[in-house]
Amino acid sequence: MRPDRSLNSGGKNLIAGSLATIVLVASIVLGAAVISYYAQKTLSEIEEALPITLARQENEVTLLVAEMDDLVHAIYRSRLEQASGDHALLLESVKKVDLHLRRLRNSYSFNDLIGVSAIHAALSPAIFDIQIWLTEGVSVLDPDSPQILKLVGQRAINAHSEGMQLLARAAGAELGILTQQSQRIGKFRDVVVAILGLLLLMSMALVFFVIRQQRTLLALKQSEEQNRVRANYDAVTGLPNRANFIEHLGEAVARGQRSRTLFALLYIDLDRFKTINDTLGHDIGDQLIKQVGVRIRESVRNTDLVARLGGDEFTVLLADMSDVMHASLIAKLIVDRLAVPFQLGGHEVYTGASIGITVYPTDSEDASTLLKNADMAMYQAKERGRNTFRFFTTVMTEQARQFLEIDKDLRRALEQSELYLEYQPIYDLEHNLVSGVEALMRWYHPEKGMITPDRFIPVAEETGLIVEMGRWALGQACRDAMRWQNIAPDAAPYLAVNVSMRQFKSGFGKEQVESVLQETGFPADRLVLEITESLLMEEDERVHEALEDFRNMGVELAVDDFGTGYSALNYLRQFPVSILKIDRSFIEDMVAVRSEARLVETIIAMAKGLNLRVVAEGVETVEQQDALRELHCGMAQGFLLGRPTDAASIFELLMAQLASRSSRSAS
Ligand code: C2E
Ligand code: MG
Ligand code: MG
Repeated sequence: MRPDRSLNSGGKNLIAGSLATIVLVASIVLGAAVISYYAQKTLSEIEEALPITLARQENEVTLLVAEMDDLVHAIYRSRLEQASGDHALLLESVKKVDLHLRRLRNSYSFNDLIGVSAIHAALSPAIFDIQIWLTEGVSVLDPDSPQILKLVGQRAINAHSEGMQLLARAAGAELGILTQQSQRIGKFRDVVVAILGLLLLMSMALVFFVIRQQRTLLALKQSEEQNRVRANYDAVTGLPNRANFIEHLGEAVARGQRSRTLFALLYIDLDRFKTINDTLGHDIGDQLIKQVGVRIRESVRNTDLVARLGGDEFTVLLADMSDVMHASLIAKLIVDRLAVPFQLGGHEVYTGASIGITVYPTDSEDASTLLKNADMAMYQAKERGRNTFRFFTTVMTEQARQFLEIDKDLRRALEQSELYLEYQPIYDLEHNLVSGVEALMRWYHPEKGMITPDRFIPVAEETGLIVEMGRWALGQACRDAMRWQNIAPDAAPYLAVNVSMRQFKSGFGKEQVESVLQETGFPADRLVLEITESLLMEEDERVHEALEDFRNMGVELAVDDFGTGYSALNYLRQFPVSILKIDRSFIEDMVAVRSEARLVETIIAMAKGLNLRVVAEGVETVEQQDALRELHCGMAQGFLLGRPTDAASIFELLMAQLASRSSRSAS
C-alpha cells in the first residue's frame, strides 16, 4: 500500500481554486473600475468645459447684437440728419456685422453647443436686406429718400431684436441639453458603481464559499489519511503493519509471476526482548523496538519493504534480487547491526536477532506458505544459538555459508596478495601469430588451494568487492604487459582485461583507466576492455558516457561471451564496440552440430558487416580450429592454442614469435 498522495493534491486544489476565484474577482473589479473611472472623467470634463464654452459663446453673440445695435443707430442717425455722406459709415457697419457672422460660422460647427449656425440662419435675411440696400439699393434707389431709410432702419431694428431673442432662446435650450447629457452620464456612472459593489460582494461570498468547501474537504481527507495510517502502519515504529505487509507480499507474488523475478522474505525476531521489557519497562521496550526498526530500514535498499508484524517480530521483503545470496548479505548485515548495543534512557541494552529467510519462487509461490517458511527458518536460527540467520532449505543455508566464507576470505586475499593474474594468448588464425592476450584472475587459497573465478567472481560482484579487485587487476595487467610492450612496441599483442557491470555501476570509467595508463605507461590503443552484452543493454547514462569516453581515448571494447545474452544487434551498432568474442558454448558444438556451425557462420558474417573483429572462445580441437579458418574467423582463443599462463611464459612465447618472424624475414 503506497502512501496516499490525495492529501497533497487536496491542498493543491484548495490553492488552485482560491487563486482562480481571486483572479476572476480581481479582473471583474478592475474592469468595472476602469469603466466607472472613464464615465466620471468624461462627466467632469463636460461639467468643467460647459460654463466656459457657454460664457464665450454668449459673449460672442452679445458682441454681435451690440454691433447690430450700432448699425441700427447709424441708420437712424443717417435718417435724421439726411446726410448722404454717412453712407460709407453705414456700409462699414453692415460689413462689420457680416464679418462677425462669418467668423462665428467658421469657428463653430453645426452641432456646436450654442447653435451658432441657427443664429446665422435667423439673422442672415435681415443682414442680406441691409447689404442689398447698401450695395445695390443705395445706388439704384435714392439713398437719401427718407422712406428707404425708414424701411432699412426698420429692417435693422427687426434683425437686432430677433438676434436678442435668439440669444436668449439658444442659450437656454443648449443649457438644457447639456444638463440632460451630464445627468445621463452621472446615472450611468452610478449604475456601474452599484454593479461593481454587487459584484464585489458576490465574489467575496464566492471566495468564502470555496475556501470553506476546500477546508471541509481537506479535513475529511486528513481524517481519512489518519484512519488509513492507523489501519496500515505501526504506531511505535511508523513501519507498515501486518495487514499492510500481507498485502505487499501478495502484490510481490503477483509481480513475480508476471516478470519471473526473485524475491526473498526475511522474518526477524529479536532475542531476549521479553526479558528487556520485563526488567526495564515497556517504555524502554518501545524505544528499543523503534531503534531496531531504524537499524533494519538502514540495512536495506529504498525499494525493499520493512514491516513490523507485532511484538518483537519484523519482516523484510527484498525485491527483484539478481542473486539469492543477496539475501544472505542483507541478513548478515542486519544480524551484525542489531548485535551492536542500544543506548536507551541511560541503559546500554543488548539484544540480537534471529532471521529466517525464504525465497520466491524456489521455496514456494504462495504468499502464506512463504510467510510460514520464513517463520520456521527463523525458529531454526533461534535453535542454532540465535544472532544468526537460516534459509528455509538447508541447501541454501549451506550455499550462503560458503558464499559468506568466500567473501570473508576474499577480503583477506586482496589484502594479503593471494590474487594473481594469468594470461591467455589470442591467436590470429590466418598468420598463426599471437595478436592479443587476455588477463584472467586467479586465487590461490592458502588452505583450500586453487579457487576458480567461476566461484569467487560472482561473490565479489554481489558484494561489490569486484570494484577493488578490478582496479588491482587492471593496474597489474598493464604493468605485466609493459614488459613485452617495451620489447616490440609495434608487434606487441593487445591486452584484454575483463570489466564487470558492477565496476561500471560504481563509477569505473575514463579517470580510473587514464590514471592506470599514466602510472604504468601502457598505451591506450593497445588496451581492450572486455564487457558483457548486458552492459550494452543498460540504460544508465553514466555507463554510456564511460563507453564513449573509452572510444575517444583510443581504448577498444570487446563484447565477451557473445550469444549467451540478448545478442541484440542494434546495440552493437549503437555502441563503440570493435571486437566480438563468440561464446565457448557455440564453438564446443560447431563440429558435431550442423546448426551450431551455421550459427557461428552467421555471427561471423554479421560481425564483418558491422566492421567488427571476431574472436572464437574455447577452441580445444584441431577440427574446431580448421572449421573456424574455413569460416574466415579472424582470431581464436582456447586450450588448443594456449592455456592461461603466467606473465613470464607469455613473455617467452612472444620473444620466440619475434625471433622466428625476424629469422623468416631475414631468410
Ligand atoms: P572469460 O572472460 O570469458 O574468460 C575466458 C574463460 O574461458 C577463462 O576462464 C578461460 O580459462 C576459459 N577458457 C579459455 N580457453 C578455454 C578452452 O579451450 N576450454 C575451456 N573449457 N575453457 C577455456 P576463467 O579464467 O575460469 O574465467 C572465467 C570468467 O571469470 C571469465 O570468463 C571472466 O568472465 C571472469 N574473469 C576472469 N578474470 C576476471 C577479471 O579480472 N575481472 C573480471 N571482472 N572477471 C574476470
Ligand atoms: Mg573475457
Ligand atoms: Mg568469454
